[in-house]
Amino acid sequence: MAKKSPRECGTCTACCQGWLRIQVGDTAVEPGKPCPEIRNNRCAVYQNRPTACASFNCAWLINDLDYPDWMRPDNAKVILKYIDLVSSVSAIGAIPTGTKVSPRVLNFLRQLSQQHQLPVLHFQRTKERGRYLPQVAVTAFGPPGMDHVFSQIQEKIQQIEMMGPNETPSTIRPNSSR
Ligand code: SF4
Ligand code: SF4
Repeated sequence: MAKKSPRECGTCTACCQGWLRIQVGDTAVEPGKPCPEIRNNRCAVYQNRPTACASFNCAWLINDLDYPDWMRPDNAKVILKYIDLVSSVSAIGAIPTGTKVSPRVLNFLRQLSQQHQLPVLHFQRTKERGRYLPQVAVTAFGPPGMDHVFSQIQEKIQQIEMMGPNETPSTIRPNSSR
């Protein structure tokens, strides 16, 4: 996909806050446990950051689909990344910086899904007594004709990097094809 406009992270550190699976040195960054290398909303080891950090493809940053400014992950409370599924189909993965993706973001993603014929997977965590539970619910939606894709991607869900080391995905729940 072609890059539409260059963007910079600025003071966003959403992908360093534990919502993606990242191992930094001996530290497993996970929900509720941000990366210890964050300093003043920046990465203190940026030039030598781990490969997992350097290779992370943030969809908002790539901006191939003209994501609006308000979707910057720290503002929209969601990290978007492309997930290769089956049969050369990619999905937009929407990973909340917290428990769930907001209705405003989901509405936007539904429009985008229709416009670009892309499936969307969004994730939901549960927090109890100040701790995130290891189960992660995954819900999928997409344009008509995607049901066969959803039925084949369960094992792919296991590989999505959004999960912390101790998190496990629950079954995928296609909730709509429109
Ligand atoms: S989530 Fe995206 S915009 Fe935010 S710090 Fe990470 S790469 Fe940059
Ligand atoms: S090492 Fe830097 S880029 Fe990687 S998670 Fe930590 S703060 Fe973010």
